[in-house]
Amino acid sequence: MAKLYFRYSAMNAGKTTLAMQVVHNYEEKGGIVEVWKPLIDTKGDNKIVSRLGIERKVDYLLADESSPLQIIKQELKEKEKIDAIIVDEAQFLNDTQINELYYISKKMDISVLCFGLRCDFTMKPFPGSARLLAIADSIEELKTLCECKKRKATQNLRLVDNVPTFSGDQVAIDGEGNVTYKSVCGECYINYYTNWLENQKNNQKLVKKIRV
Ligand SMILES: [Zn+2]
Repeated sequence: MAKLYFRYSAMNAGKTTLAMQVVHNYEEKGGIVEVWKPLIDTKGDNKIVSRLGIERKVDYLLADESSPLQIIKQELKEKEKIDAIIVDEAQFLNDTQINELYYISKKMDISVLCFGLRCDFTMKPFPGSARLLAIADSIEELKTLCECKKRKATQNLRLVDNVPTFSGDQVAIDGEGNVTYKSVCGECYINYYTNWLENQKNNQKLVKKIRV
């Protein structure tokens, strides 16, 4: 019976590259694969683009109200079979969509491979990741090294104008506006966080002084 897989990591660990490798492996053997990503991920428009420069057009961009089950039922009217569904940036999916992907793997015998981040820049899980961590049949971490070169990177540091920040909306797409990300280990993350807190306190003191 097919499984729901979750492959997670911090940013820039090669998730998309691996997703494309999986697509290639299926197609090489004559498999039919659907490639999906959430509409909210505007990076690369209707393509998934790996850091190695390889790209692939997605078959479907999932809006928040999109139903994976309805999409697959529709697709199966035109295609004789679907062997696997590959979902990139799966952290942005909602509970219902992950539940439907689970249902598809079990009742329609289609393997579903989700790639995504575990946590946001404040260490809180994304909705899709939380649900996947709860119900996926197979969960695996893809590892990458922190800038300190001592430990694996597990957290996503958000930079605004190249300055680490720990407040803001959960979703801000990498490279849009002045937002970028860096994947760091827990120790480096905490160091950046305590420095940021210290700066916030100093700024508040300064504001009070000015008001006095
Ligand atoms: Zn580090």
